[in-house]
Amino acid sequence: MDAENRDSLISEYLCIIDGEHRAATDGRTIDMRAPSDGQIFASVPRGGASDIDVAVQSARHAFEQGTWSQFTALDRGRCLMCLADLISQHRSKLAQLEAKDTGKPLDQARADIAALARYFEFYGGAADKISGETIPAQNGFLALTLREPHGVVGGIIPWNYPAQIAGRVAGAALAMGNTVVLKPAENAGLSILRMAELALEAGIPAGVLNVVTGFGEEAGVALASHADIDFLTFTGSPEVGAFVQAAAAGNHIGCTLELGGKSPQILFADADLDAALPAIVKAIIQNGGQTCSAGSRVLIEDTIWQDVVAKLETTFRKLVAGPHDGDYDLGAMISAQQQDRVEGFVDRAAEDGIFQIAMGSVAEEAPDSGFYARPRLFGPVPTDHPLATEEVFGPILSLIPFEDEQHAISAANATPYGLVAGVWTRDGQRALRVAKAVRSGQVFINAYGAGGGVELPFGGFKKSGHGREKGLEALYEFSATKAIVYNHG
Ligand code: NAD
Repeated sequence: MDAENRDSLISEYLCIIDGEHRAATDGRTIDMRAPSDGQIFASVPRGGASDIDVAVQSARHAFEQGTWSQFTALDRGRCLMCLADLISQHRSKLAQLEAKDTGKPLDQARADIAALARYFEFYGGAADKISGETIPAQNGFLALTLREPHGVVGGIIPWNYPAQIAGRVAGAALAMGNTVVLKPAENAGLSILRMAELALEAGIPAGVLNVVTGFGEEAGVALASHADIDFLTFTGSPEVGAFVQAAAAGNHIGCTLELGGKSPQILFADADLDAALPAIVKAIIQNGGQTCSAGSRVLIEDTIWQDVVAKLETTFRKLVAGPHDGDYDLGAMISAQQQDRVEGFVDRAAEDGIFQIAMGSVAEEAPDSGFYARPRLFGPVPTDHPLATEEVFGPILSLIPFEDEQHAISAANATPYGLVAGVWTRDGQRALRVAKAVRSGQVFINAYGAGGGVELPFGGFKKSGHGREKGLEALYEFSATKAIVYNHG
């Protein structure tokens, strides 16, 4: 294809800084590839340190001028709910964009856009309901607390759920009166640019929500290290999370980190398998397994091992990966690198003699140039093998047998991560005992909702990170307590 025709097929997106569309200062761009066919379909600015600086200054100005924090909480909430309405009005196009950009099936993208709208609805409604308290300290004094915004919040967003994660960060941070600079991932995040355009239409003033696209090593580093940021939030790999935390420490600011997991589903012999098994398969196949809270390990009580393995084997053989606009169980991986990463785990399993129980397929209509990975089922996987301890971020499910409750708990806790867990049993007392003993930020009993809903606090123990997003809890992360003491005699 010649350069002229190629360029005419590509949609050019721009950053949103200070309420305006902006190219990168030096005019450079990043080609965006659709995972379903590997072809370039859009470009975004390759923002760098100077673009981040302009965006941070714009957010700082908006914060200091009080353009946003001086809105009444009610008015901030109304703007966020108006944004929720606008997102709902544009949901069909937003979902198509998200599906093409990430390679996820259109149905999943529709659910993600519905969640994006719901974040702004939820946090819009909550904006005027967070209050401080009065404290019985000393006679003659009135002591009270206020919740105040941090100031400028920097958010570094991954590619697996661009719309949802941008929504959960921006929704909560804006509700508390912060101003925001978001840095989407270099391989997906077009919906975030569209969201920022709609935010302006919703009446959120210029400079309050800025989005700068670019590479992690350039725009990401610049945002994480910027001296005029007041709070950081990051979702992505543990390695980059450690860098972001060090950068935050360098500027003496706080941060929340959400760094993925190796989430277990614990299946006791008395579980309702008809309910459990479809949920277990969905929890690893959703988004092709590229979900921080993917249920990527199933711990199975040994007395039902053979029955469960046989049932899962039948299901996995039928799973099909295909283009985002087809009716398939999963889409493509985000990139060729991610596809290679998944294949690397498969090769390692073969080298180590881990038995592959079943493998799904890639649809015939899927272009060879797309980044597809076949769903795979492995087991029994030793609890110290990388397939049992490391985040694959692909459609690979590891099965691990256990003997009794104590063994199940220690196997569940035998990874460096602690994000989400599922417990499947009809014994209510055991369900609660196990839920309390498992070190993870969320535990589902006889259910599994990757990440749960908008309303649930979400975040990790151990290497899964710290701080909580989602739910009302996020409003406390994105604000600080001020105590005021009044001597009235
Ligand atoms: P990543 O951590 O490199 O990227 C996540 C975000 O951080 C992107 O916006 C990226 O541009 C930015 N970034 C990268 N380097 C940075 C730096 N030095 N400073 C500041 N920002 C930086 O993740 P990845 O390479 O895209 O994926 C690698 C692995 O990370 C995946 O295979 C998966 O295991 C994990 N991951 C987890 C999540 C999650 O939701 N927890 C999301 C994405 C990736």
